[in-house]
Amino acid sequence: MIADAVPLSPTLALNEDLEARRAAGQPVLHLGFGEAGLPALPGLTRALRRAAPRNRYAPVAGSAEARGAAAGWFRRRDLPTDAAQVVLAPGSKPLLYAVIAALPGAVVLPRPSWVSYAAQAALAGKAVVGVPVPAAAGGVPDPDLLPDALARARRAGQRPGILLLTLPDNPTGTLAGPGLLSRICAIAGEHDLVVVCDEIYRDLCYEWPDFRGPAHLLPERTIVTSGLSKSVALGGWRIGFARFPSSTFGDDARRRVVGVASEVWSSMAGPMQDVAAHVLAEPPEVVDHVEASRRLHRTVARAVHDDLLAAGARCRTPDAAFYLYPDLAPWRDGLARLGVTTGAVLARHLLDRHGVGVLPGGSFGDDPAALRFRAATSLLYGRTDDQRWAALRSPDPLALPWIAEALATLRATWAALAG
Ligand code: PLP
Repeated sequence: MIADAVPLSPTLALNEDLEARRAAGQPVLHLGFGEAGLPALPGLTRALRRAAPRNRYAPVAGSAEARGAAAGWFRRRDLPTDAAQVVLAPGSKPLLYAVIAALPGAVVLPRPSWVSYAAQAALAGKAVVGVPVPAAAGGVPDPDLLPDALARARRAGQRPGILLLTLPDNPTGTLAGPGLLSRICAIAGEHDLVVVCDEIYRDLCYEWPDFRGPAHLLPERTIVTSGLSKSVALGGWRIGFARFPSSTFGDDARRRVVGVASEVWSSMAGPMQDVAAHVLAEPPEVVDHVEASRRLHRTVARAVHDDLLAAGARCRTPDAAFYLYPDLAPWRDGLARLGVTTGAVLARHLLDRHGVGVLPGGSFGDDPAALRFRAATSLLYGRTDDQRWAALRSPDPLALPWIAEALATLRATWAALAG
């Protein structure tokens, strides 16, 4: 029975655990869940209200309006796209699953990478080929290790078929640069891999990048997935979309994915088709909101990052979104004296002793012995919508009392761990 083999996704499980602790009155600093932590724009709730009567099933791939708006969204990001290349779904997560299930071959994953890719591959009965990320950035396999990992997988009887990249990345919050990307795409081309590029955090890059991703570098074989959960903070509304390449491969892959969609979710919810069309047309209110969110994410993530470095931890500087992936290796000896010798024990120690909830690196496929974890800083913006709006509008969010207090708690926590 498949349900026995699939535990609750670690990020959702931790979120439920932390919410239960909070409900029981325990003080918890929640850094464990990849939610944007911001309220919905009033213009979007109005659009949803207007669309509520839309109770009929939508076309499986999405309404003409929503697909057209998504195509325009990609074109404004320098990717010529026709509406026929777009598929919408209730979140990008089911789309990623459909792509993994519909395309042949084992899944090549950077280590660490987002919790659900490996679980989805397992659900689809596929092998995973894990390749460590390079020192420079996460979201991509180290190009110095990738060819050997592919050769080893082939010798073991696996047939690597899909290379999954996350640009920018969850859990590291970093964006692989152009040099890395062109090396990786060249290897993917030589080995006939399809690239699935998860760009759900793309609009949250702190500097708008001159972004020539795999869809530019390997245009015939790259599928891009994205969604509105992060940039516009609409995770609970479930709006995801994908761009398939304009190629024979792309047409076939899209048909396969639409086939899976037709048997699993039928279509994205009717009202969400209208919301997607509205948001993806990028009216000024939406553009301003994303810009303000980007500034806030950057300010808070970089502040926590700087505090970690000041305390002596290692951590890549985040380029996007609201994640940090610290490595407490410099504190290993002192932590061992506290009985903390693995990432999982470290996460448990942080929660039980300091009330700080994070996900250990092992949840992302990283070496379980490494003292690494992911901290999502977006849940520090406030517990109420009023606080979150204040954080979004403040010229100095770090000075807001609830954020300043959370950062002070974190500083004290790092100091205690550093010994
Ligand atoms: N991809 C990455 C890298 C994510 O972090 C997430 C959410 O946490 C998703 C995909 C799924 O997002 P959604 O299904 O809300 O579009």
